[in-house]
Amino acid sequence: MSDSASAERRSQIVADVDFGRDGKQAGNLSMPWSSHESAYGQIQIPIVVVKNGDGPTMLYTAGTHGDEYEGQVALMRLARELEPANVCGRVVIVPALNYPAAEAGRRTSPIDQGNLNRAYPGDPDGGPTAQIAWYMSTVLLKLATGYHDLHSGGSSLEYLEYAGLMLCGDKDLDRRGLDLLQAFAPPIGVVRKARDGRAAQPAAHRLGVAALGGEFGGRGGLSRHGLGIIEAGLRNQLKHLGILPGWNPPKPAAPTRLMTWTGREGFVYAPAPGVFEPLADLGEEVEAGQPAGLLHFIDEPTRAPLELRFAVPGMVICRRAPARCRRGDCLAHLAVPWNG
Ligand SMILES: [Zn+2]
Repeated sequence: MSDSASAERRSQIVADVDFGRDGKQAGNLSMPWSSHESAYGQIQIPIVVVKNGDGPTMLYTAGTHGDEYEGQVALMRLARELEPANVCGRVVIVPALNYPAAEAGRRTSPIDQGNLNRAYPGDPDGGPTAQIAWYMSTVLLKLATGYHDLHSGGSSLEYLEYAGLMLCGDKDLDRRGLDLLQAFAPPIGVVRKARDGRAAQPAAHRLGVAALGGEFGGRGGLSRHGLGIIEAGLRNQLKHLGILPGWNPPKPAAPTRLMTWTGREGFVYAPAPGVFEPLADLGEEVEAGQPAGLLHFIDEPTRAPLELRFAVPGMVICRRAPARCRRGDCLAHLAVPWNG
């Protein structure tokens, strides 16, 4: 791309923090967004930068999906607690990255229906979600040594809490990602191949940045267990990178159990609309053929419910949260041990 072409592709988002300045700054990423309600309005995305001298930069985001709260709360607490005097390098924190979605408590943006984790590399002339992805791709990720995007199951799913790594196939980058995952020290780490280049982790990989994700709860609520894992994990990572040298990592109760998602064969989908009665709990080890649940039909009370079975063995790592489901909804899926 020529200089003039890349200049035309500049983000319209403007930061009022100086990424090169030492100290703690709390400001906004401001995107002009003209609407019926606000002709000259801006979407203002809060950002906190804590910097002290030269060193690595860790970028943290939550609220990529607005209805996933453990990461948002953990990052606000980190932003309040981090002091420049304790930091060697830089930490960039954006607790509500897709701000319109976070403000609405929804997975997707109410403005453009955009799913930020399917929007990379983004578009500086697109809707707000595409513009945020483009700003990440062209500004924030370029500052980063490491990146962690914090998720949960949101309103429609509940997950057994885990930190996640998508493998990109570049040995060095995959190694650095695995190091970041091990440093985070979660009870469960899920390692799997990146399948969708429109997600945040592959966008980071394209820039040579080691990146993690993870699902730390769901049901549209806030898992205290998930929050605790994130809060210790972030600081463990910063210690690992040399950014927070004074942190004493708590001793993990057990070594991280490394797992991976199964293929599609380990997913159970609703073949028809109904009310789903799960028959397996999160964390339960199931056999092939074991019932995943019963699908009940409210229009036919005397009809026997449909029994849905797991096709393969594994551990239930995810379940649908609302009982009411439509044809095609994911009801559960399995994980199995990761063997490298
Ligand atoms: Zn998410």
